[in-house]
Amino acid sequence: MGNEDRNGRKISLERAEELKGYYQELSGIEKGTDSSSVSRYEEQKRKLLSLLGGEEKDWKDWKWQVKHRIDDVDDLAKILKLTHEEKEEIRRCGEENRFAITPYYLALINPEDKKDPIRRLCIPDSLEMMAEGEADPMAEEFTSPAGVVTRRYPDRLIINVTNACAMFCRHCQRRRKIGGSDQDATKEQLEESFEYIRNNPEIREVLVTGGDALMLEDEQLEFIFSSLRSIPTVEVIRIGSRVLVTLPMRINDRFLEMIEKYHPIYLNTHFNHPREVTPEAIEACAALSKAGVPMGNQMVLLRGVNDDKHVVHLLNREILKARVRPYYMFHAKNVSGTTHLGVSIDEGLAIMEYLRGRASGMLIPTYAVNAPGGLGKIPMLPQYIVEKTSEKIVLRTWEGKLVEYPM
Ligand SMILES: *Cc1c(COP(=O)(O)O)cnc(C)c1O
Repeated sequence: MGNEDRNGRKISLERAEELKGYYQELSGIEKGTDSSSVSRYEEQKRKLLSLLGGEEKDWKDWKWQVKHRIDDVDDLAKILKLTHEEKEEIRRCGEENRFAITPYYLALINPEDKKDPIRRLCIPDSLEMMAEGEADPMAEEFTSPAGVVTRRYPDRLIINVTNACAMFCRHCQRRRKIGGSDQDATKEQLEESFEYIRNNPEIREVLVTGGDALMLEDEQLEFIFSSLRSIPTVEVIRIGSRVLVTLPMRINDRFLEMIEKYHPIYLNTHFNHPREVTPEAIEACAALSKAGVPMGNQMVLLRGVNDDKHVVHLLNREILKARVRPYYMFHAKNVSGTTHLGVSIDEGLAIMEYLRGRASGMLIPTYAVNAPGGLGKIPMLPQYIVEKTSEKIVLRTWEGKLVEYPM
């Protein structure tokens, strides 16, 4: 090695040491694959199977899971340790905004921890009764040009194929739609939506969502996918579904064989916490990936669940290992009954600031706020542009160093 090379290597080694100093061990946050989580889950699963009179093979059957959802406080009290006051609170709040939890998801709750993030995501809370917020801040009622379409963008749109979900998330932004009963879009509504897409050839991508699109039967889904594929201008189909998180057994062989006929199909899901990334969820992701379905994640930033930069970092590491790419981190909208779960934009920006540079770019989602009035998603970034003139731009690096760049 020449002198110059040696010097280069010395500087590089010093820089590598400095970079190591930024490395963050994410220990102390429990994950769904930790042996503590897995054994607690097994114990709760055993209790639930005995309460519901089911066997191992029932547990793996998505229809059994949906049929045996827990929507009764007395059943809940047999699985979680609830005081009389807590039971009354859940009963009262559940009457206003219904709850239903798959046995699988309920088994993920740590019954010893009243502040458990999984519990916060699915059990009614008296704070939901606060009067703040709006029913429909995204004005979805005014963005449906036909059938069950929601259109907010030039080249893509949503079709809401059902209002059913495997579980009712406490932070649901469409809770006005889930109030009463489960309703699938009718064949007429679907036909009208396909007709609209056919007549508007600039629509290149169709998001099949709800509710949760994968609550439909395979036959209903096949009707939707084959109809969309009969429209030559539709290039990409995107499924919106939380079943990977709340009902991973929905991803069965029959379903996988069916969707392989309609590629390219993408699926965006909704993991919020590393404890949701369980062996079952990972298996479902692997099966989808093997069937050729690229996956993305749309987390929602929520108080007491994931309002912590290390939790978000770990969550994104866990899902990336399961081949799910972080896509959006949503700022929670001001929906009535969910405002107690909101996190400030400053806190969201601080999480983005922490991630950039410290974490692989593969782990970094777009932080987005949904514009009021249904005007679309707006990305939010910490300020990296310090100064800009017609000649030059002054930028800030992830470490906070200022650099100059010609325009
Ligand atoms: C979120 C959304 C989309 C998808 O937006 P992307 O930025 O492409 O993920 C499309 N249509 C509607 C109505 C939406 O709300």
